[in-house]
Amino acid sequence: MADGVLGHLPPSALELAYLVAAIFFIQGLRDMTHPRTATRGNLTSSGGMFLAVVATVLYFEILSPALLAVSLLIGGAVGTWLAVSVETTEMPQLVGLFNGFGGGASTLVAGAELVDATGGGLGLELTTTAAIAGIVGTVTFFGSLVAAGKLHGLVGDSPIEGRTNQILQVVFFAGAVLAGLFLMVQTGLLGEAPLAGWLPAYWVLVAAAAIFGILLVYPIGGADMPVVIALLNSMSGLAAATTGFVLDNTALIVAGTLVGAAGLILTFIMCESMNRTLTNVLFGSMAEGSDEDMEDIYEGNITETSPEEVEMMLDAAERVVIVPGYGMAVAQAQHAVAELADLLEENGVDVEFGIHPVAGRMPGHMNALLAEADVDYEKMRELEQVNPTFSQTDVVIITGANDVVNPSAKEDEGSPIAGMPVLEVWEARSVIVNKRSLSPGFSGIPNPLFANDNTSMLFGDAKQSMQDLVDAYNENH
Ligand code: NDP
Repeated sequence: MADGVLGHLPPSALELAYLVAAIFFIQGLRDMTHPRTATRGNLTSSGGMFLAVVATVLYFEILSPALLAVSLLIGGAVGTWLAVSVETTEMPQLVGLFNGFGGGASTLVAGAELVDATGGGLGLELTTTAAIAGIVGTVTFFGSLVAAGKLHGLVGDSPIEGRTNQILQVVFFAGAVLAGLFLMVQTGLLGEAPLAGWLPAYWVLVAAAAIFGILLVYPIGGADMPVVIALLNSMSGLAAATTGFVLDNTALIVAGTLVGAAGLILTFIMCESMNRTLTNVLFGSMAEGSDEDMEDIYEGNITETSPEEVEMMLDAAERVVIVPGYGMAVAQAQHAVAELADLLEENGVDVEFGIHPVAGRMPGHMNALLAEADVDYEKMRELEQVNPTFSQTDVVIITGANDVVNPSAKEDEGSPIAGMPVLEVWEARSVIVNKRSLSPGFSGIPNPLFANDNTSMLFGDAKQSMQDLVDAYNENH
């Protein structure tokens, strides 16, 4: 029995706290599957983690209650500041950093367990899990730093040529695994002190895994980075679960496994929504469209429109579908978009939102922004639901979206996004595309939709343009 504040309680009390925490984690994850309950899900899961941390720290007297309170206050303050101050467009890199810290913590905890046991006698099970936690945690930490840096525009393209990079990846990964095996034999089987000698195996493992993590993420293009972040999220869970085995801590094993599984499912959903394989994301690259391609498609075929003209179209419309994309997030146009939708509905127009699973820069990006602007969840239609309705739609307003409405995905087998499911907006009677220019979206390829006969371009910042539409509509109603 431990001698902390809660140390007089039997071990079953700690296990009970872990069980309650696990229930909180699972219920929280369930709630996160729907935008309406997602906020509650976040709070429930955080509550579970809070309980697990406090119970562990007090039971084993890792910190005094006063020091624990101070640590919670500092951590809570930093977390709150980050969450409040971050722009929604910067959320993926923040998530990336959080994953990285999770991985880094696993590396340090596994290392600390080895330091703790400098007398030897760790056993094979413990050294094996420590080696796995060390490798996965370190790759996650350094990979996440590069991923967040790339998304933030601080890290550029890899200077190392593709083939050389792959060879170096194999060398450093093999180095990390060999160091892990050495640790297992030296400490686990022979019982020697793990940090003895001039070059302890664990540090070699960490150094090799760090270089491997950097080499793995560095060459991946910015467009694929959100998928990589989801994968690193899954790895941070795996590292935490393995550390849970090192520490024999049930709560960490459960939480890590849940994060690992959820992250992996998310990774595959994202790959599927872009019609890419994970191998292609990690080791392939997306071709970019050339300026000549764009000129060929757009030259003489672009029809420009104005808020007043669009207002006239809306005046005659019975059904309107609004398709938001990354540009809506950049412009923070969600409130103006919601206001326009309300106005149209007040005037008897049937309005729905067509949401592509990878619109924006993270899954659920559009749903979260529209929910912030109080758009009813029932109005947000997923790709499969909304696609069959476009042929009965009078006007589609696309604001800040590009790749997710690109017909090349369906019509051009040679396109880099061929096969990606897209919103078939061109089936509607009139299509309004609101963006600032003819610049491509994330995939870097031209969009023939802009040159269609039934498409008109409403050039301008999404927030300003939506506000102009609201004003024009108000003037005439
Ligand atoms: P895109 O990146 O295809 O296009 C966004 C468009 O927004 C740009 O063409 C840009 O055009 C416009 N834009 C930028 N700022 C503004 C502004 N202030 N006002 C108006 N328009 C603006 O976005 P989509 O949402 O259509 O597609 C998402 C892309 O991201 C897909 O390629 C997807 O595969 C990728 N992706 C998404 C992930 C996710 O989880 N959501 C994960 C991985 C990748 P202009 O500069 O002319 O204004």
